Amino acid sequence: VDQDGVLADWGKTWDKTLALYGASYAIPRHANQRSFDLKTGLNSDDKAMVNRVMETPGFYADLEPIPGAVKALKEMLADGHDIAIVTSPYYSNPTCIADKIEWVRRNLGQSWVSRIILAADKTRVSGDVLIDDKPAITGARIPDWEHVLFDQPYNHEVVGKRRMYNWNHSEWWLAINPLRVPAGSKAFA
Ligand SMILES: [Mg+2]
Repeated sequence: VDQDGVLADWGKTWDKTLALYGASYAIPRHANQRSFDLKTGLNSDDKAMVNRVMETPGFYADLEPIPGAVKALKEMLADGHDIAIVTSPYYSNPTCIADKIEWVRRNLGQSWVSRIILAADKTRVSGDVLIDDKPAITGARIPDWEHVLFDQPYNHEVVGKRRMYNWNHSEWWLAINPLRVPAGSKAFA
């Protein structure tokens, strides 16, 4: 399970920090973000503002949990699934890694900290399902997981992937227990 935009409400803090810095409205606010790349179409001043926001110390520690995410993760674990929090740190932010760990400790508890995998390249991490909001996840390897998209404004155009809209029980349960059609099943022949 990815952290930003899936467990942690990155967009809310993005909007708040842009407001705090009086950023130009040429920089899309979360609800209007159509590109995962935050700098798409921006001039150099606005690109510098994006860097300033993203490099704000403490930015990643203060994110609110996405509603239902914490409860869902604990239920998944209780159901017997082996859960990892797989996150790509924003290395230009001096406190990002410590903040991400602190976020997990604060919101999920100390026992979850050892479930964190920091990975700039998530294709190197093995698993059955990766729940992530990034539209396309590529890297050095062909992943063994299925990418289930966590719905966000910047991934609406992606087709052909299963999608989770929230952390309701039925949503996450189906995401990690997909319907398997038995081979040779007459119903689907
Ligand atoms: Mg994410």
